[in-house]
Amino acid sequence: MSRNSPLDIEAWRNEEIRTELEHRTKVTPAMLHSINKDGLLISVSDAWLDKLGYTREEVIGRRSSEFLTAESRAYALREVLPAFFLTGHSDNIEYQMVCKDGRIIDVLLSAVLDRLPGDAQGVSLAVITDVTALKAAKRQLALSEARYRDLVESQTELVSLASSEGELRFVNHAYARHYGREPDEMIGRSLFDFIPETNRLAVEHHLSAVCSVDHSIENQNQVVLPDGRIRWMAWTNKALRDLDGQVIAIHSVGRDIHDRVIGEQRLKESEARYRLLADHGTDMVFQLDHDLVHRYVSPACDDILGREAEELIGAYPMAITHPEDAERAGSAFQALLDGHLDRHLLLCRLRHRDGRWIWVEAQLKTLRDRQSNLPSGIIGTLRDVSARKAIEEQLQEANRRLQALADQDGLTGLSNRRLFDAAFSREFDLASQGEKDLALLMIDVDWFKSFNDGYGHPSGDGCLKKIGESIGGRVRPGDIVARYGGEEFAVLLPGAGLAEAMVIAELIRESVLQLAIEHKGSPNRFVTVSIGVASMETRNSSRDLLLGRADSALYRAKGNGRNIVVGDDA
Ligand code: GH3
Ligand code: MG
Ligand code: MG
Repeated sequence: MSRNSPLDIEAWRNEEIRTELEHRTKVTPAMLHSINKDGLLISVSDAWLDKLGYTREEVIGRRSSEFLTAESRAYALREVLPAFFLTGHSDNIEYQMVCKDGRIIDVLLSAVLDRLPGDAQGVSLAVITDVTALKAAKRQLALSEARYRDLVESQTELVSLASSEGELRFVNHAYARHYGREPDEMIGRSLFDFIPETNRLAVEHHLSAVCSVDHSIENQNQVVLPDGRIRWMAWTNKALRDLDGQVIAIHSVGRDIHDRVIGEQRLKESEARYRLLADHGTDMVFQLDHDLVHRYVSPACDDILGREAEELIGAYPMAITHPEDAERAGSAFQALLDGHLDRHLLLCRLRHRDGRWIWVEAQLKTLRDRQSNLPSGIIGTLRDVSARKAIEEQLQEANRRLQALADQDGLTGLSNRRLFDAAFSREFDLASQGEKDLALLMIDVDWFKSFNDGYGHPSGDGCLKKIGESIGGRVRPGDIVARYGGEEFAVLLPGAGLAEAMVIAELIRESVLQLAIEHKGSPNRFVTVSIGVASMETRNSSRDLLLGRADSALYRAKGNGRNIVVGDDA
């Protein structure tokens, strides 16, 4: 065909357009391809080749569907292409293409069927966009959303997303369950529907505060359950923002703290009640911290100690404790703080502001930390027991006197037989256990019957008294002198062996003689005593045996003329 005929010119022009089009198609930065009616690639852009990694020679003339994954290919042949040839266009078809190196990329493909004048068949021109990165990002997002949901649904805490106006967009199951509903029933509702009217304004203010900062803010407010019950909740709220910084949602995590709040309220009330009692009671209430410093002292300290509470707070109680009681008080405090004791009743003297010592009775109790249960201080009440203490002391003194009387011999003031027997048992056991010595003197006044007869019974009594004093003056500290009965005396000498006892007995005999009490009925002309001595040295196996030996020594002294000391030499 000659180029000069009008038809030729037409054809030539078409050829020129086609060539120009082909050129543009090649160099465009977009991924483009054209296929003919048989689905064979007739042109591809450089960008297309770059993306898939082929050269132009490798692809021209091949089916475009060869570059799709099997799945996309099936989709293309089954649905996309029939519709395309019918309607002349396809829009945003999601395909997966396979690169030369095997990588798969996600693409969006839009195509038009282009019929150039004189070309009855037409070609299709497709624009392809690589959306792999976008898809991956979407998948990632979906995954992280799923993870977030998993996390949120596994929480026992209440989690929600709401608009800045408070419209609920998401709630987890725990949230819905708290209100006795399903999550779907809550979405779209305003969170203010679940807040008692009295709290709404405060919550509104709180949410606008949340929207004005980037960090999360804690809040406590009441919510109302479907059955009308009110519960205290604690929330951590944070505003979520888009890239422009606009708030897209308020993320809230909440938990029910009702029981804790009510518990604390009750505690405060009961503390206030106790405080009232402490402030108005006559007993002084005080609290010591772990360093034994007064943290609280009730006003009764003025009545009891003449001191202001302010003077004692921060001070150490030992500073006003009597020196003799300080150690006892200190160890009681320590035992309470160490947890060895839980309660203790302490009786001690404290110094009144005017200088007097006041007897006080302190009921002490360990204070424990509510969380760790470890001792954290001491709480106590303190009462003035001076009056009671004075009466007790009088009573004790009276008892002491009564006891002494019961144990004393009325005539001589020496221990009586009862006390002697008890002392003898005790000393004998001590000596036996400790393998120590113990000596016993039995002393009998000589010719005393005739003394009475000669001088009268009252003189006899006076004589016995003097003899008792004389014996008492010759023994060692710790020795026990008793009137054993009638005109007989007994002396216990703990730790003394026979020899030492003989010496002491001799001193006693002499001292009685030296009293020089006239006794006409005695061959010695003066009152004398005979003494029998025995000691455990002689290995007496019992108290009675020791007594028996002392007695028989005395008996021998009488037989040997009296006014002598005879030792048990058995
Ligand atoms: P001997 O040297 O053998 O001991 O002769 P004695 O007279 O002391 O012996 P006896 O035991 O027979 O007499 C003891 C007397 O002591 C009898 C009693 O009158 C007298 N006597 C006992 N108790 C008391 C007392 O409490 N007061 C007075 N005044 N005499 C008492
Ligand atoms: Mg006698
Ligand atoms: Mg006698």
